[in-house]
Amino acid sequence: MPRYSVIAFDADDTLWHNEQLFLDARARSLQILDGVLPRHELVAALERAQLENLQFFGYGIKGFVLSNLDMVARLAPERLSGHHVAQMLELAKRMFEHKPLPIEQAEPCLRRLHGRWPLWLLTKGDPLDQKAKLRHSGLEHFFDRVEIFDSKTPQAYAALLRREGVRPHEFIMVGNSLRSDVLPVCQIGATAVHVPSAVEWEHERVEPAELADCQFHSLQHLGQFADFVEATHQNATP
Ligand SMILES: [Mg+2]
Repeated sequence: MPRYSVIAFDADDTLWHNEQLFLDARARSLQILDGVLPRHELVAALERAQLENLQFFGYGIKGFVLSNLDMVARLAPERLSGHHVAQMLELAKRMFEHKPLPIEQAEPCLRRLHGRWPLWLLTKGDPLDQKAKLRHSGLEHFFDRVEIFDSKTPQAYAALLRREGVRPHEFIMVGNSLRSDVLPVCQIGATAVHVPSAVEWEHERVEPAELADCQFHSLQHLGQFADFVEATHQNATP
């Protein structure tokens, strides 16, 4: 059984609501760009935009807005005006200023575990966005370490643990994404705990077959996580 030396948390939609911000921004993009393309083409183009450009612009607000503009500029260059661009950039600024709403159980959970284990925040995306959200969240002081990955791969987790001298069986990670927080953590032999979020980005979904060899734990919400840590830590053989 594990005996933890580090407890790690995902941030977006684990500690604070984030996906709703992007759903609202997608709706606003459709309004701003209305008429540039037929409605159904615009909806499809904006759905594809960020995924196709992830390798260039990454995750986050700037990637979202640049990808949308790039897609529409390629499909309908003659219809995209400076006014559209200005409104999209204004949307990016409003998104950046948005204060994330913490998940209800996040603060009590962190308070209970803080000081007893080192707590790490492991997220991915644009460092500027992620640092701003952490600062606005009021949760920053709980964390001993903050790491912002480009992408949450098994290699990224393994490299971090190696650098910090933490063995995988001493490491536990909780998050809402099967793709980013559960699967890669299982793959390096650490303990992964899934807590579902109300809205999930399509890109983060995982086919059941991919999880076939993955032994992970599911909780209904983050309010159950401190009990889970205590129970599984105490059962450990030193
Ligand atoms: Mg997340």
